[in-house]
Amino acid sequence: MAHSKALLVLENFIGGKFVPCSSYIDSYNPSTGDVYCRVPDSGKEEVEAAVKAAKDAFPIWSSKSPLERSQILNKLADLIEHDLEEFAQAESKDQGKTITFARTVDIPRAVHNFRFFASSILHHVTECSEMPAMGCVHYTSRAPVGVAGLISPWNLPLYLLTWKIAPAIACGNTVVAKPSEMTSVTAWMMCKLLEKAGVPPGVVNVVFGTGARAGEALVCHPDVPLISFTGSTRTAQRITERSAPHCKRLSLELGGKNPAIIFDDADLSQCIPTTVRSSFANQGEICLCTSRIFVQRGIYSEFLKRFVAEAKKWKTGNPSDPTIDVGALISKEHLEKVRTYVKKAQAEGARVLCGEGVDPLALPPGNQKGYFMLPTVIAEVKDESCCMQEEIFGPVTCVVAFDTEEEVIRRANGVKYGLAATVWSGNVGRVHRVAHRLQSGLVWTNCWLVRDLNLPFGGMKASGIGREGAKDSYEFFTEVKTITIKH
Ligand code: NAD
Repeated sequence: MAHSKALLVLENFIGGKFVPCSSYIDSYNPSTGDVYCRVPDSGKEEVEAAVKAAKDAFPIWSSKSPLERSQILNKLADLIEHDLEEFAQAESKDQGKTITFARTVDIPRAVHNFRFFASSILHHVTECSEMPAMGCVHYTSRAPVGVAGLISPWNLPLYLLTWKIAPAIACGNTVVAKPSEMTSVTAWMMCKLLEKAGVPPGVVNVVFGTGARAGEALVCHPDVPLISFTGSTRTAQRITERSAPHCKRLSLELGGKNPAIIFDDADLSQCIPTTVRSSFANQGEICLCTSRIFVQRGIYSEFLKRFVAEAKKWKTGNPSDPTIDVGALISKEHLEKVRTYVKKAQAEGARVLCGEGVDPLALPPGNQKGYFMLPTVIAEVKDESCCMQEEIFGPVTCVVAFDTEEEVIRRANGVKYGLAATVWSGNVGRVHRVAHRLQSGLVWTNCWLVRDLNLPFGGMKASGIGREGAKDSYEFFTEVKTITIKH
């Protein structure tokens, strides 16, 4: 593809300095289909330099008090917040998400991640146990682990990267981070603020590049004892294999195939707009998005009618237009993959009620080559269909009917994933019963995406290993030691 004149060229950030790379990858603007940015294609050499810088910075950073580190994290939060609009514009252009989503979700949350861990790091206490008969007291102490390798995906770029960087450095580790090669710009922008925030050189290093080269070099590096990864289950399997010879500590936040279960006593006036949002927010490119909607038979027809009408209100188009609800998907390949699922469902006899292939998609002239797709609702899909089993990760949701509580729990649990579920019912007893029996790391009842960052976040089954949150991230990013004193 021919390059336009003013390409943005990123550089790695190693040891507090921007460093050019010998080769680069093209990065596309998903809403126009144009190459607009060149991202370093880092490999072993760049990762080696970044790990060395992180190792060199570790003794001083790890010996700072939590309060000193907290003040630096707060300063960094202030600086990102000051540039919020610039960051939001960049995230929207790089990822295809709407400017509204970037302004109200991605960047505010990145700011909050730093503030949250700046605060929570001050409030941990360790355990103590006395043994008077032995004249002993035992206590635990926690210390940072060393150089943390952080690998993040393209759907919520700065949001998810800072969810890892903030706890890692708050605990006193130094880091080498590798954002997705498709969405590297906001991480690079953040690097420009580190010095001003007071983050010493080498504490945060960012290497840009592909998973196969830069990611694997990080995963296989002997001096990186822990890897925090968010991305697909398939990549997690590869990371597990590649890191196994080093016995690394792994935190894996992976994909989902999240059910919404809607009982006949649900408040549909709340449930329908929320479930449309949980299906299509960020183009359906959130690991927590709903993609299987189970509706109790008595309200199935009414639900379907109202749900489709609500979905049709969502406007798809130029992400920089603040009235748009659905932006562009991340890449041409991803758009094709998502479309293939819709075609497969149709071939199996399912009904596409709105969206892809059914409704016209009118795009402004500048966006004709962008990777857009309308919110798509599919009904009468079989549970064993790939649309009901595999993560689609696009604006596609399937609606099916169920009869009993027992049946819907079995069907909702009948996938390999177990990340998030939503349950809608006015019966509090039923809500508790169902929530307890769902194989899911998160269950929202009568709401979606309401998060308290203090509490554990993560998935069961193929959706992950480990949890993140105030206490969980603290435990992951520190090594615990039990000390016994005899007096
Ligand atoms: P991906 O697994 O393709 O890539 C994620 C990251 O891993 C990227 O930075 C990529 O370059 C890197 N990578 C790829 N191969 C690698 C390798 N062999 N070694 C090391 N690193 C490698 O995922 P994606 O397509 O970027 O993101 C979408 C996926 O992420 C979806 O499955 C989604 O559900 C999941 N996700 C999960 C959560 C969660 O918190 N559970 C949050 C967001 C996204």
